[in-house]
Amino acid sequence: MSHGKLRADKNCLNCGHFVEEQYCPHCGQENTETRQPFHFLFTHFVEDFTHYDGQFWKTMKYLLFRPGKLTKEYIAGKRQQYVAPVKLYIFISFLAFFIPSLFPSDHSENQIKKQDLLITSKEEQQMAADSAATATIKDIEARGYLTPEQSEKISRQIKRDTLSADEEFFEIDKRGAYKIAGTTNIKQYDSLMTKEQSRVLKFARPFAKKYFELTEQGLNKKQIQAKFLETFVHMIPKALFIYLPLFAFFLWLFHNKKKWWYFDHGIFTLHYFSFLLISILILRILDQLNQSIDFSIINILFGFANTIITIYSIIYFFFAHHRVYESRKRITVLTGISLFIVNAFGIFILLMGLVAISFLMIH
Ligand SMILES: [Zn+2]
Repeated sequence: MSHGKLRADKNCLNCGHFVEEQYCPHCGQENTETRQPFHFLFTHFVEDFTHYDGQFWKTMKYLLFRPGKLTKEYIAGKRQQYVAPVKLYIFISFLAFFIPSLFPSDHSENQIKKQDLLITSKEEQQMAADSAATATIKDIEARGYLTPEQSEKISRQIKRDTLSADEEFFEIDKRGAYKIAGTTNIKQYDSLMTKEQSRVLKFARPFAKKYFELTEQGLNKKQIQAKFLETFVHMIPKALFIYLPLFAFFLWLFHNKKKWWYFDHGIFTLHYFSFLLISILILRILDQLNQSIDFSIINILFGFANTIITIYSIIYFFFAHHRVYESRKRITVLTGISLFIVNAFGIFILLMGLVAISFLMIH
């Protein structure tokens, strides 16, 4: 199938070689007119995936339902009939990032903003009262009615009162807010941190700070959990991308290094991760549909589909691994399990790191 009108001239525009038919026999460029209708810019992209005897659909069919088949074909040198691994991965990544970005965002945002205004004004009042009281005591001390120790003692008393008032305030207005190490705001947290000289508290301070910021924005425990989970899910495709070379590295480590090159493991990884991205995308689309439908039987069906796809994505790895690295069954199963554990652990650590970073960037 051609992408555009063929040129009447028979000299290749790319290399100057004589072109008898559609493609240049020397460099392979198609001898089409240099300018095409505008829409060709876009249809070309889609056609790239769909022409060549259904190259794209054949690739997708094997990728989804024949674990390991594409990798085997590619390593055996049968490449023309399928979409090349990197191209496939990039195209699927594009879909995996683009489609979820079209989903509507959380409806409760407006409600949160309203609460936000209310709480900030209350808190500001509290802080103003607090600092006014401290200033008055300093003033009395300056006039000589109080010794520094006495004024210090009173200030501390006032602070304690304010804190407990704060606590009440949080209990009433933000039911279900977590306490972190028994504290409900960053001031309390900081004083606990300096008092206990705790390294753990010091390490966790940015997270605590972020958490208190979110509660002060009027988010309750459930909303923060939901936000956290959302960030986590968003992070999976990014984590996979970073993890690609490591996954291939572990494959390399666990297999015969003379028989298999790092290159082969790279192909296997690209294919498996392409598959994973598609299943994550399907899961997210299902979840989105599930949220917009409130009908228990359908919700149960969605849950069921979810479980099936998740289990399939895991089993897929073992089938693909066995098909590509076929050695004695017991050995591939053992290697498969070890690889699965190592990688599950590795991806989990990477994800936690990324989630920590993105949690700090929630706004
Ligand atoms: Zn040419």
